[in-house]
Amino acid sequence: MITGKNYIGEGLSALGAITYKTINPETNSENETTFYEATSEEVNKAVTLADKAFDVYKKTSDAERATFLEAIAQELETIKDDLVEIYKKESGLPDGRANGELARTTGQLRAFAAMLKDGSWVEAIINKSEGKPDLRRMQIPIGPIVVFGASNFPFAFSTAGGDTASALAAGCPVIVKSHPLHAGTGELVASAIVKAARKTKMPNGVFSNMNSKGIEVGKLLVQHPLVKAVGFTGSIKGGTALCKLASEREEPIPVYAEMGSINPVVILPSALKDKAQYWGKQYAGSITAGTGQFCTNPGLMLGIKSKALDQFVVALGEATSEIAPACMLHPSIKAQYDKNKEEVLSQPGFNPVTTLDVKLKDNYALQHIIAVDAEVFLKNKTYHKEVFGPFSIIVQCDDKDQLTKVLEAMEGQLTGTILNEDPKELFDFSETIEALKSRVGRLIFNGVPTGVDVSAAMTHGGPFPASSDSKYTSVGLTAVKRWVRPVSYQDWPDALLPKALQNSNPLQILRTINGEVTKNAL
Ligand code: NAP
Repeated sequence: MITGKNYIGEGLSALGAITYKTINPETNSENETTFYEATSEEVNKAVTLADKAFDVYKKTSDAERATFLEAIAQELETIKDDLVEIYKKESGLPDGRANGELARTTGQLRAFAAMLKDGSWVEAIINKSEGKPDLRRMQIPIGPIVVFGASNFPFAFSTAGGDTASALAAGCPVIVKSHPLHAGTGELVASAIVKAARKTKMPNGVFSNMNSKGIEVGKLLVQHPLVKAVGFTGSIKGGTALCKLASEREEPIPVYAEMGSINPVVILPSALKDKAQYWGKQYAGSITAGTGQFCTNPGLMLGIKSKALDQFVVALGEATSEIAPACMLHPSIKAQYDKNKEEVLSQPGFNPVTTLDVKLKDNYALQHIIAVDAEVFLKNKTYHKEVFGPFSIIVQCDDKDQLTKVLEAMEGQLTGTILNEDPKELFDFSETIEALKSRVGRLIFNGVPTGVDVSAAMTHGGPFPASSDSKYTSVGLTAVKRWVRPVSYQDWPDALLPKALQNSNPLQILRTINGEVTKNAL
């Protein structure tokens, strides 16, 4: 049952007077539950409880936390049908997407559980050299974490998403600032986490879920002195505002913000020799996937002017026009899409690639692609902005140098893609590829950027403004590094050391004994 209340640890609370409802974008009508925005008193209670829970939670073993994460996945699966129902009602996203995203979310939780069982994530290092101190180092959790989820991934980047899973894995309690567009989905997911915590005997307060109608609750959480770090997925505007707030605290804390991106795709000439139609179709699918509401949406494609590029533009336009417009997540996201698109379309110097003119249902978005000359693109920064939705720009360049120049003029991005069929051409374009590499977190070869695999080697981040700290990723197992800090023990008695650093632990990853470096058990 969805109550509309806040979870402060195991307890439900609704002290506030500010209420709101979520919206079903498909029917353009309000969903039934009334949600109560958390008050400053409730925010304080949740953070204080999390801080108290930390005293116990940080001492739990890796195996105990793995059991907790697996129990969350299990509880989510137990209420799968209810979750999918409310997810669809609050996002307008279809059944397949809901089920796929839920599977990804439970998969993420289980992947972090497996990481804990392996044990090497603490990066234990032992240094033993004659005449030198015995030094042993490992990672430890930092304390309560605040998580802000994104509108476009109610499961995988929200309440029990990657930020929450990685922080709980690290040994940090989590307070989620629930996304107002999917508050019901958030509460139901929160109930599964709370149930799993109770079943696996985790301390009360290891997880809380705060409702919010506006930005006040998020601000209070980031400013709370007991909060030690923030995980954010959302817009550049939101992410940078929170970074500023966190840096102005008496004790500044890190905000790991994953923000917007237009994900450039570089089409090298060989890619279009025989495959203009193929790539046209592939990219029509990628640009419109999830109604364009993916942070990895290919918002910019670059190629060198040629007959083949013209054929690709026509193929992309045709394939995109054949796709039925789809619903966006919320009336305000649709309004934002229209506004941002109009801003670009009011600029001089572009050619339309799609010219769709169909009557749309409320909250449905019309996909749109335009083409501009590189010279025009370079002079006008409005063309560089993210238009969150099914929108993309093709930049037509005179030659290789201009193509490289366009990449050099771009901000940091989550992904960069190269399309190519001739290995020799990659050497000719090495400077172009270098320019792309220096601006992105993930390089894709002959594929589309949408679709982010969860694995140990994934980087989902990139130079600013794609993320606030390009050294970290919000997807994949190394996401856990955001919530830990290293501690070194010097000449510490073996029996008092954490298990990971004791002489008998087979999982120490690096030892230096009398100058000799050995790797254990990996
Ligand atoms: P959003 O509007 O930034 O909202 C994200 C969350 O942050 C919401 O809970 C929002 O609360 C809160 N927030 C925003 N501004 C705030 C402020 N100044 N102070 C306190 N809290 C604030 O983003 P969204 O609409 O959810 O997501 C769409 C954007 O996310 C797109 O730009 C997309 O590219 C990006 N995205 C990035 C990734 C990635 O991994 N890099 C993944 C998915 C999406 P309110 O709603 O109450 O304002």
